Amino acid sequence: VDFDLSPSHRELQLLARRVAQEKIKPRAREIDSTGRYPEDLFEAFRGTGLLGTCIPEEYGGLGLGILGLAIAIEEAAKYSNAAALMLLLTRLATGPLLIAGSEDQKKRFLPPIAAGTERASFCLSEPQAGSDVMGMRTVARRAEGEGWVLRGVKCWISGILQADWYVVFAKTSHPDSRDHREVGAFIVRRNSPGVSIGRLDDKMGVRGVDTGELVLEDAHVPPEDVITASDGFKLAMLSLNSMRPVVAARGVGLAEGALMYAVRYLKERHAFGQPLASFQGLRWEVAKVAAEIEAARLLTYRAAWLADHGKFDKAFVGYLSTSKYYATELAVRASSVALQLLGAAGYMKDHPMELYYRDAKQLTIVEGTSQVQLNLIASAVFDEDLWWD
Ligand SMILES: Cc1cc2nc3c(=O)[nH]c(=O)nc-3n(C[C@H](O)[C@H](O)[C@H](O)COP(=O)(O)OP(=O)(O)OC[C@H]3O[C@@H](n4cnc5c(N)ncnc54)[C@H](O)[C@@H]3O)c2cc1C
Repeated sequence: VDFDLSPSHRELQLLARRVAQEKIKPRAREIDSTGRYPEDLFEAFRGTGLLGTCIPEEYGGLGLGILGLAIAIEEAAKYSNAAALMLLLTRLATGPLLIAGSEDQKKRFLPPIAAGTERASFCLSEPQAGSDVMGMRTVARRAEGEGWVLRGVKCWISGILQADWYVVFAKTSHPDSRDHREVGAFIVRRNSPGVSIGRLDDKMGVRGVDTGELVLEDAHVPPEDVITASDGFKLAMLSLNSMRPVVAARGVGLAEGALMYAVRYLKERHAFGQPLASFQGLRWEVAKVAAEIEAARLLTYRAAWLADHGKFDKAFVGYLSTSKYYATELAVRASSVALQLLGAAGYMKDHPMELYYRDAKQLTIVEGTSQVQLNLIASAVFDEDLWWD
């Protein structure tokens, strides 16, 4: 076991920390209050190469893998989970391509993501189908000429407005089918006929990166943009498995940011003639969250290491889901504790605690809710994949 970061990961961490402190921190409150996409931060990510963190070098990225992306996201999430999500989106939609795309598709779609000349979104959820993925009703049928035609509505799609293309999962048979094999994955260009954006959501947190509906009315996908016409359910699950540590890193960074802020406040504010930091009851709250942050961080880095070693199939689901479950639940708990430590000040928008608190809740819902993660972890234990002898 080696707990040291490689020199290139350490360098990345310092770079991301600098960008987070200099660019993200001063913008976090305004991004939340205006709800406007921070194009300036995207430019900062582009200028520093961070958009290509996990894209392999042969496709123009830094080649620092899921671990690299988790490290960068942890830094961003200390101040803004919207900024962290912008980095996450560089992997969410490219995951299916990295796992199952053709060489031609990788060459066409990955370099623009790394260079920041294109953006993309991942479209799985539908109004009636979130956790129940096979409840999707978007259908792909063969086009009269060549390729496929897609019809349906995807919803809550992160980055919907900025995306130049979407990875869309759709059933290749009847919309009532529950056959996992009868799902395809398709790259849909934003500017294709039949593609439009429906309603946008008004969210409680992670504002600034819009979510909304992708409406497909006989949108045509040429054959070269079909990732797979079968087994798309499995591809979606593999993609999400490999993303668990990336979402977890958003939770770890948020918890770290909230706790560090609260600790500095406790040292400065006085009550009963002494700094709040001297009260044992408060110190123990800080200690408990600090211990959990370290646990979540280790789970996250290990899960990232697994994903980077191609270990994100069924046998590793327990380890991957544990990181997402634990780190995102911790984000909710840590932001609640940290807010409480500031008293009334924590409840006011003069401090970022209420922002952390609102943002944190998104993390236990996206990319598989906490309950879904518990189902996966339980199955891993009962199948003895997550086992101790
Ligand atoms: C801000 C935001 C951004 C998102 N971005 C994207 C995106 O980019 N792309 C995308 O495809 N989707 C996205 N989503 C959708 C997200 O993945 C779904 O919300 C999530 O999968 C849960 O689905 P649901 O909301 O339909 O909840 P439901 O599936 O309706 O679940 C409702 C409740 O029931 C629980 N539940 C459901 N099934 C079970 C079960 N078997 N056992 C125990 N409990 C269960 C859930 O945990 C939850 O508490 C986003 C969502 C949000 C909030």
